[in-house]
Amino acid sequence: MNVPFVDLRAQYASIKEEVRAAMDQVLENTNFILGQPVADFEKAFATFCECRCAVGVASGVDAIKLALRALNIGPGDEVITAANTFIATALAVSAVGAKPVLVDIDPATYNLDPALLESAITPRTKAILPVHLYGQPADMEAIAAIARRHGLRVVEDACQAHGARYRGHRVGSLSDIAAFSFYPGKNLGAYGDGGAVVTNDPALADRVASLRNYGSRVKYYHDELGENSRLDTLQAAVLNVKLRYLDDWNRQRRATAARYTAAFAGLPELTVPATLAATEPVYHLYVIRHRRRDALSEYLKQHGIATIIHYPVPIHLQKAYLSLGLAPGAFPHTERAANEILSLPMFAELTTQQGEHVARAIADFAAKTA
Ligand SMILES: *Cc1c(COP(=O)(O)O)cnc(C)c1O
Repeated sequence: MNVPFVDLRAQYASIKEEVRAAMDQVLENTNFILGQPVADFEKAFATFCECRCAVGVASGVDAIKLALRALNIGPGDEVITAANTFIATALAVSAVGAKPVLVDIDPATYNLDPALLESAITPRTKAILPVHLYGQPADMEAIAAIARRHGLRVVEDACQAHGARYRGHRVGSLSDIAAFSFYPGKNLGAYGDGGAVVTNDPALADRVASLRNYGSRVKYYHDELGENSRLDTLQAAVLNVKLRYLDDWNRQRRATAARYTAAFAGLPELTVPATLAATEPVYHLYVIRHRRRDALSEYLKQHGIATIIHYPVPIHLQKAYLSLGLAPGAFPHTERAANEILSLPMFAELTTQQGEHVARAIADFAAKTA
């Protein structure tokens, strides 16, 4: 049996008719740029996120960038974020001319450790940018308390956490402004690039809406140096269909995660994902830890099971970020995680049989190498 890491084809098959009808309508109307489906999606996604406003943009990294720009963060400023994240989080900070200041993670949740924030704050710090990594909400209450004490803004990178809840509230609604990605493999994925900014502050939303469209609110009148970062109408049409299924798909991911976790109980050397109290994660990724991670991954590959490492090289050790001047050892928890973590197949359509095949192979590996 083969178990792919994700199976976008299985999902397309389940919604094919609806998606094709929605895309056809855009083709007939030829309203390709900022057409009605974009406005419809912004309204529906804001409601989904329990926020007043949503603005569709071209990608997740642009969503973070435009959120930072709307907060007037730029050259000379510092933004604190997690050392263990996809590089786009840091790149967005660099793109606005600010400096990404990294902090280590809590090794149990893989999210930034709020206890390390205060020592990273300087007079240049403008914002904290927590990432809800793997679909697990960061400890937002602790982060908000520190931000309040130091007069800092909070921007959520919710690119892996569409629909997750923290103390009953959706991610995206837990900060000044938040960023989502609709990259095809995300929990809510378009059929190309896409992203959104959500906020409860209409003034910030208005600023992002202007910035994404050449700094213009009225056609051919430009208030500031904006950019072209609009959500395509075709992508919005796809997202309007898929958003209606997102809660169901996330429930299926949680069920798969629960089955994995139950199957791995008691296996030596294997650590299952921890869940912070009062959170409802959405398992964009199901990430285990294993001391012999590479051997396990190779064994699973031989049994037709695809795995990936998220992420093999922490930001501060990437060639692109040599300029941060940080050596190995700077963030021990992040670096140790990079050597031990392994993401297992996880998607809503993963069948019980596929899940059992994965669980059996991992148990067999443990028995063989005991
Ligand atoms: C996917 C992702 C992004 C960037 O999203 P794009 O749509 O690819 O630009 C940013 N941050 C995190 C944590 C992500 O997983």
